[in-house]
Amino acid sequence: MKLNVQEIEDIVGADNVSITDETRALYARDISSLPGLAGQIVKNAFKLVVQPVTMKSLIALIKYTNEKGIPIVPRGSGTSGWGGALPIKESICISMIRMSRIRHVDEYGLHVTVEAGITWRELLMFLEQAGLTLPVYPSSAAAATVGGFVASGGFGIGSAKHGNIKSQVTGIEAILPNGMLVRAGSILCSEIDDLDEDALLGGQWLGRMVQKDTSLEQTDLLELFMETYGTFGLITKVSLRVIPKLMFRAFAGRFDTMESMMNVVSTILEHAEPYHMRFITDSYSSKVFALRSGDNEFGKFILSGALMNTIYELEEEVELITRVVHEHGGVLLSDGRAEYHWSERFYPLRIKNLGPSLVPAEAILPISSVTEMYDDTIKALGRKSVGIEGTIGNNGMTSFLAWILDDERKTISYTLGWHRSFDLARLAKNHGGKPYAVALWNVPYAREFYGDNELDKLAKMKQIVDPKNLMNPMKVFGGRIEAGKESQAFGFLSGYMAALLVQMFGPTLLGWSWLSDILWTSTSSQIILPIIYLISILGGIAGFLFIRFLSLRRALKLGIPLLKIIRKILRLK
Ligand SMILES: Cc1cc2nc3c(=O)[nH]c(=O)nc-3n(C[C@H](O)[C@H](O)[C@H](O)COP(=O)(O)OP(=O)(O)OC[C@H]3O[C@@H](n4cnc5c(N)ncnc54)[C@H](O)[C@@H]3O)c2cc1C
Repeated sequence: MKLNVQEIEDIVGADNVSITDETRALYARDISSLPGLAGQIVKNAFKLVVQPVTMKSLIALIKYTNEKGIPIVPRGSGTSGWGGALPIKESICISMIRMSRIRHVDEYGLHVTVEAGITWRELLMFLEQAGLTLPVYPSSAAAATVGGFVASGGFGIGSAKHGNIKSQVTGIEAILPNGMLVRAGSILCSEIDDLDEDALLGGQWLGRMVQKDTSLEQTDLLELFMETYGTFGLITKVSLRVIPKLMFRAFAGRFDTMESMMNVVSTILEHAEPYHMRFITDSYSSKVFALRSGDNEFGKFILSGALMNTIYELEEEVELITRVVHEHGGVLLSDGRAEYHWSERFYPLRIKNLGPSLVPAEAILPISSVTEMYDDTIKALGRKSVGIEGTIGNNGMTSFLAWILDDERKTISYTLGWHRSFDLARLAKNHGGKPYAVALWNVPYAREFYGDNELDKLAKMKQIVDPKNLMNPMKVFGGRIEAGKESQAFGFLSGYMAALLVQMFGPTLLGWSWLSDILWTSTSSQIILPIIYLISILGGIAGFLFIRFLSLRRALKLGIPLLKIIRKILRLK
């Protein structure tokens, strides 16, 4: 793809465009450390990185990319690890971090409207000065953007009471892949905003398009941009619910078994409404202990959380938690320890120091099956190298995150061990769960994640909104990968060798020795050998074409189990 950098600079301003190798490569990564093999799917750099600062220039840029057929990848801070912000095709990255203003606060109606690039921490600090806080935010708040978390969906701090971030969003402004602006729900801006007319036209266009297909009439436009990883549009503003910051109290308990801890979680949720609850398992607490002498809950299962309520209700909740923890054989930790665990909610990556690399694997599953899932995970991944934690939701579900310690410098074992990060999705399925996110790496599980009807509806909407498939291509919906030259050579060689071996040993293996006798007599072999080589080359071409036209879904479905098999054969730990 040939890009005219000058034209892009003219649109967004030269200061907001970077074509340096370092920036292009840096933005082509997210929080996960991918093995080199992933380079067969993911490009190692964007064509260029843009950080627009105004809506007008952003709209103009997307109109331009649409006209020129240039794929774009929206990006917040790249703190996710599911590949949603990575380049698959030759594409440009639109980083939203310079569009980060707070546009409107309604202290009485309890709403805030912000630009998508603001980080959760910035927003939180602003709200807390006004006696308000956020119902839900991710533990990556220090870096993660509002747009990135809303585009991904998920649980965070506050989810025990307020659920998925999706339920806290009341309005989204987004630019569609054709450059049209739409506003779903309510977006309020304190300052005069001259985009109202654009938003009206965009909304009318989208409305007309959706009406063409009766199966899409009920489409909730707000939902279209949430948990769809930036595949429908670039989120530019978000309106969120906010809540008054009431009395606050951290709590924590330690347990000898996963079962007793999870029983406590269920009982607390039945009788109280804690703001936040998080658990870490024995293998996780041992790892933190190994790093910090101040941690004294070695090898225990720790439930920690926070209550946010009026004084009276807070007292009742504290009493309940104290009683339930004791009834289940746990020990309530001191206020100091509880505060410590609460402050640790932002640092799940601390155990990386034991790594040196940390491979995340994440699922979402019913609280009732966490104990069994935990046993299976330990069996599959090994206790020593894995730390497990979870964030409790308000709908009987919890996130279940396994941090696998590894060493990416050991290229072969790291590459072969990559399958472990996918194993959790399979295990979760056996326990009534599903992967935590789809984005790129879980495309093979998109049906389980969204459900058949929803995914079919999303696919139809994608066709309408993004017929050229330019907005974050391959994410969620998959498609044909542009496999690297190594994979294509591997495809050719495999096809060639398979065809050759079948011809040479097939007849003997099938017991057709008469055929072998005819083929390998000295006179006939002079004629047969060139034919065998020709058929082998045809086999090679078939192998090459198979890889050349391989879909992402199939590549992952075939490739990941293959890694597991090779790892088993080599008996790698
Ligand atoms: C220490 C740590 C703690 C974490 N804690 C949590 C947690 O509590 N809960 C949780 O769910 N996740 C968590 N995560 C994962 C990640 O931080 C969140 O998903 C986060 O919200 C991603 O935000 P981001 O700005 O980094 O988005 P990115 O990683 O940049 O992007 C994520 C996805 O959103 C898309 N996107 C980004 N911005 C936009 C936009 N403006 N418009 C459209 N699409 C966009 C991208 O294309 C990509 O598909 C954690 C990660 C780390 C490293």
